[in-house]
Amino acid sequence: MTLLSSFVSTSQLKGARVLVVGLGKSGISAAELSAREGAVVTATDRRELGALADEARSLCEKGVTLEVGGHVEASFVSADLIVLSPGVPPIPEIAAAEKRGVPIVGELELAARFCRGRIVAITGTNGKSTVTTLLGRMLEAQGIATFSGGNLGAPLCLAVGTPAAEPGGALVVEVSSFQLERTARFRPEVALLLNVTEDHLDRYPSFAAYAAAKARVFLAQRSDDHAVVPAGDVVCESLARAGRARVATYGASGAAEVAVEGDEIVDRRAGARYPLSALQLRGAHNVTNAMASVLAARLMGAEPAAIGQVLSTFTGLPHRMQLVACREEVSYWDDSKATNVGAAVKALEGICGRAVLIAGGRDKGGDYGPLRDQVERKARAVVLIGEAADKMAEVLRGAAEVVRATDMRDAVRRARSLAMPGDAVLLAPACSSYDMFEDYVERGNVFRSVVLEEVA
Ligand code: ADP
Repeated sequence: MTLLSSFVSTSQLKGARVLVVGLGKSGISAAELSAREGAVVTATDRRELGALADEARSLCEKGVTLEVGGHVEASFVSADLIVLSPGVPPIPEIAAAEKRGVPIVGELELAARFCRGRIVAITGTNGKSTVTTLLGRMLEAQGIATFSGGNLGAPLCLAVGTPAAEPGGALVVEVSSFQLERTARFRPEVALLLNVTEDHLDRYPSFAAYAAAKARVFLAQRSDDHAVVPAGDVVCESLARAGRARVATYGASGAAEVAVEGDEIVDRRAGARYPLSALQLRGAHNVTNAMASVLAARLMGAEPAAIGQVLSTFTGLPHRMQLVACREEVSYWDDSKATNVGAAVKALEGICGRAVLIAGGRDKGGDYGPLRDQVERKARAVVLIGEAADKMAEVLRGAAEVVRATDMRDAVRRARSLAMPGDAVLLAPACSSYDMFEDYVERGNVFRSVVLEEVA
């Protein structure tokens, strides 16, 4: 029996040669888990040892062989199993291994083979982290041993061996399209696809290819599983209906199991009602996120009391529609996590009144057209930063006053002078941050501190 079939059927790694490619958080945890399970593990990264995290360097002490500063092709083609990290671009060594028939999986697939708890997977272009967190907290509030992580926070491998990964436990996993590309039997009992709008077109050949990667979340589901999607979203609904799971919807349509009725979120199947006034999250998109979480939590066995308690206390994650300051009747909002057009559109939509939008950064190859429509409706002005400024200025011309800024301080100063009393200044860049910042967290923190210095 080849290792592929034995791994597929029994999840046994004992004695197998496992090669982990990419030593970020998920690669490190995959190497540790494989070593713990008795595999002969090699871990490789194109970065030099000094550039890796301490946890990667200390893998040696756990019996892992490190091949860093480049890759050794022989290790790829002779492996019994390769665990590929989602951030690794296409490399010739992987192609060579694939040609030889070496099974290649992602960390998610590896981890799931060792989990006996119930898995909920959350994917979509936007809202994943918010829903993962909300849902995880609802299950915890119900007293269920719960792990929340995946693409956000802790990799799923870290859940293995904890009560959440045992029968009766729950694993609430945020999954990205990149992670889903390397799944095979990953089978969530409840799979949520929140939305699919343009993103990562710098990494995918087309929108259809990106959407198809997301739809893989439903691939291994069975008829007694649940596929949760927004009602009336033709893309998400058709992707869900192509799978075998029962489709459950939330949102606007009359057929939705969870919907807004008047000033309440109503779970029609459970007969439960949650007042919108108690919701701490801001923006219409977060009402949608709340509905998705209510539905999935109920499917996972949470009762209305636990669900309601979390809805009324969760105030959101950092850098997602967070109020930074309110001065001279102008409010300042940090939505640095709006790294694509869909998120920036929702952020603007969620502002009451008019906004001065701070946008721009590294372009991801998408269309700014939908942002133009929303800018026309809601923006008093737009302040552009970063590499994408020219392209965005071209698309936004005439929709609102558009000005350029050299850096975040300049952007905040300009936005402040353009804002009128009652307006919001909103950082929702619609781009990634890598041209000017380490990541969206640093971008949001810089915005926050500049706002506090400039306007406080
Ligand atoms: P993800 O993990 O998918 O990136 P987050 O919860 O971190 O999702 O939110 C990312 C960005 O998308 C934030 O800027 C947020 O305001 C916006 N957003 C959140 N939920 C939605 C939604 N349902 N639809 C559109 N945009 C959303």
